[in-house]
Amino acid sequence: MTISAQESLERLREGNRRFVSGVRTGDALASQARRSDLAGGQQPFAIVLGCSDSRVPAEMVFDQGLGDLFVIRVAGNIVAPSQVGSVEFAAERFGTRLVVVLGHTQCGAILATLEELGRPSEGRSPNLRSIVDRIRPSVEAVLAENPGHHPDDLMPQAVRANIRASAIHLRHGSEILERLTRESGLLVTGAEYSLETGIVEFFDGVPEAGRRSGAVARRGSPTGQG
Ligand SMILES: [Zn+2]
Repeated sequence: MTISAQESLERLREGNRRFVSGVRTGDALASQARRSDLAGGQQPFAIVLGCSDSRVPAEMVFDQGLGDLFVIRVAGNIVAPSQVGSVEFAAERFGTRLVVVLGHTQCGAILATLEELGRPSEGRSPNLRSIVDRIRPSVEAVLAENPGHHPDDLMPQAVRANIRASAIHLRHGSEILERLTRESGLLVTGAEYSLETGIVEFFDGVPEAGRRSGAVARRGSPTGQG
């Protein structure tokens, strides 16, 4: 049975509230019985494209267990062809209707991009550069809109701009996902996890009806990195 994007969103919000309040059920869901049930197949209710940062494990911050989330993690939650393909695979194969791009405050990949723009380094590996290059357009736009600001002060805007860019890429960079959005209610949303509060705020692409119970994340200090 496929559950709607809206219902999936509500589940994630409830799970995040449990995580924030310390009342977690994830361990129970990882029980042996659940594992046996899932050996025959999976039906994850949400697809999460998140950052690899060790402090932002999707299953934990949404308090979900085995079989609940189809998670793709890559530094800076960027979207390259393999990420699009992973989302297409899960959306088509499992009927999952909600896709969440999950970025986070003080993301180290965003910070690295800001640093790179300020002081280009020759020695960076081409592999790492391929990540920075995906983040660069969003960060450049934020820098252009805020002339005279110190890059560190622009981290919050840059993090969100990068999340929005990844969400837009998923919405418009795939015929399969466009079709599923048009015909089957697929929803791609952008969310930011606060390292400071543990709260996930869904701030991009959320339908009106879904905004009412949205948690409001407080901004943390712009220093530090992740
Ligand atoms: Zn990160």
